Amino acid sequence: MRPAESGDEGHGPAREGAERGRLHGPSVARRFLTDAHAHLSLVADRLGAAAIVGLDKAWSPGTRASGEGATSPFVVDVGVDAEDFEERKRRFGGFPWVRLTAGAWPGKVAVEGRERALAALRAAAADSACVAIGECGLDYFHDEAPRADQLALFLGQADIAREHGLPLVVHSRDAFEDTAGALREASPSTPVVIHCFGYDRDAARIFLDLGCFVSFAGNVTYRKAAALRDALAYVPEDRLLLETDAPYLAPEGLRGKPCSPLDVGLTYDFAAALRDTGVERLEALIRGNAGAVFKRRRGGGRVGEPKQPRGGTRDGRVDG
Ligand SMILES: [Zn+2]
Repeated sequence: MRPAESGDEGHGPAREGAERGRLHGPSVARRFLTDAHAHLSLVADRLGAAAIVGLDKAWSPGTRASGEGATSPFVVDVGVDAEDFEERKRRFGGFPWVRLTAGAWPGKVAVEGRERALAALRAAAADSACVAIGECGLDYFHDEAPRADQLALFLGQADIAREHGLPLVVHSRDAFEDTAGALREASPSTPVVIHCFGYDRDAARIFLDLGCFVSFAGNVTYRKAAALRDALAYVPEDRLLLETDAPYLAPEGLRGKPCSPLDVGLTYDFAAALRDTGVERLEALIRGNAGAVFKRRRGGGRVGEPKQPRGGTRDGRVDG
């Protein structure tokens, strides 16, 4: 979710590639850090295909050096369209620094074509390249579809995550109560990430009580985002994630421009200062948390056995 102050940024109607080809200058903190949520297809649309080459140059040497293991920083490329998984896998699945999710954002098309969307996501979830389901959830800011129908699409994806033993990436904008209610109802047995957290400390506490990870994007750096900063200071180390949501929500300094996962360093710097910790320590922490949530799956499609309906126990998924 994105607070009102972020204006119309976010997954609304697609924007044109007005800034295609523009790359950020060398002055910003462009470092090899884990980004728990980005949209590489949209980064390529906005910044041009060269941006992806730049990302590969930044990430691949480090990934190779650390042997592609869970100890290496990585980028989670998050699906928003139920049918985009194969295309994203073809474009980005070969990069050792990318982990892919499959999900349907609660827009009009996906909500109205729910069964088709869920069938596509079931197929994607069976692919060992898929490390999580989402982003999925409720968006009462864009409100593109009836809320009851958004909820049905959300719970359908929570079921798929359960069936496949996969974590769930949740989008929630202006919909805190219903998101918490849906998570209570779904009671996922796998990790849940509240991506681009956009509420306050009390909401963070409730999501934490529900067992969720809380992920902060570049909007936490915005001047008016006091409630987000308060929540960022509050979330315990073992439940914290950082992300860009690139190309959206560029951190202060790049605000209003499309960003890429290389800009996540600005949010790390900000979070480290706010939490009074070192960036290197924070980087290791986020990398560990993200690695624990977005585990690589070994071939064969599924990692764990299919989950029990409702209330199944946490499975013993293996990591790669
Ligand atoms: Zn997103």
